[in-house]
Amino acid sequence: MSTITLRIELHKPTLAKQVMYQKMTEMNTEFANWLLLHPPINQATSKIFKEFSNENFPSAVVNQTIREVKSQKKNQNARTFRKIWCCFNNQNLKIEKNCAFYTVSFPTLEKRVGVPVVAKSFQVAWLNKIINGTVKQGAGKLYQKKKKWYFAIPITWNVESTQDEKIMGIDLGLRYLAVASIGTKSIFFKGSHVASSRRRYASRRRKLGQAKKRQAIKKSQDKESRWMKDQNHKISRQIVNHAISNGVGVIRMEDLTDIRNTAKSKKTDPGRNLHSWSFYQLKEFIQYKAEMVGIRFELVNPEYTSQTCKNGHQAKANRNGLKFRCKECGHTCHADLNGAINVGKAISGLAT
Ligand SMILES: [Zn+2]
Repeated sequence: MSTITLRIELHKPTLAKQVMYQKMTEMNTEFANWLLLHPPINQATSKIFKEFSNENFPSAVVNQTIREVKSQKKNQNARTFRKIWCCFNNQNLKIEKNCAFYTVSFPTLEKRVGVPVVAKSFQVAWLNKIINGTVKQGAGKLYQKKKKWYFAIPITWNVESTQDEKIMGIDLGLRYLAVASIGTKSIFFKGSHVASSRRRYASRRRKLGQAKKRQAIKKSQDKESRWMKDQNHKISRQIVNHAISNGVGVIRMEDLTDIRNTAKSKKTDPGRNLHSWSFYQLKEFIQYKAEMVGIRFELVNPEYTSQTCKNGHQAKANRNGLKFRCKECGHTCHADLNGAINVGKAISGLAT
């Protein structure tokens, strides 16, 4: 099960609407704080709102707030709420497409409203998936940031795995040969010693090349291949052991076919090409070691895995070397870790 949160901006809401959204947020917060002190919350239904106020507040929001307060109480971190944004479940928050425009409709203090949204190019595919039902829409939150109003809508989808199966995503790189993530937990496998050793082999061969010692060059190449193979065996063993000890059911890696077959890799990291055969070998080793112990192995499409943030924002400029910084929301992350998380989520689907 994979999740991302779409943050969709409402397109120029009128002042009257903005005032109403603000009022709804305030009422919702006051209601939540009233609920906290109201003892019989366990059997509470949306009717309880009548005891709090005579206003015509949408029962869809009331139900979500009751749920939120309940879970806060259960976790015993129930203090006064500073702000509780209004939430709407998928039956009450509808996303629709009218000609070229996308709209969201939801109940408010007055009536149900349908408002246009700003659908960024990278969000269109997700919005279409919500509309045609290939992804599941969670409860959407109406919130304000920097004078703009948004809906934060978590969406989840199944990539052919059972719901509670743990998934490990692996991203291969240079500085870190491999980064493996299981949910938010991650482990880095350093590649610096590999890079320096391979540089040594290369420089030795350059010298031999000048001396035209063809046999010696071949010998050095074979030696390097054996050394690299040994490294790949060790790293793949560590990765699969890590997967076993964490109860992982599925390991996902990028489909490297493109990297092998074309001169130019899709990744921004140009050094990848030089290492393509060893990456491919590492992938092979991880795959058979995983399958040997009954862990399923899946390849995912590599598109956008390095460019997409956890909120679904996608831009080439988000990745800069080892740093990932989303231009849209400012989310920062280690670039390889971000890649590994996206590989785990299979954000561009499984490779076929
Ligand atoms: Zn972002």
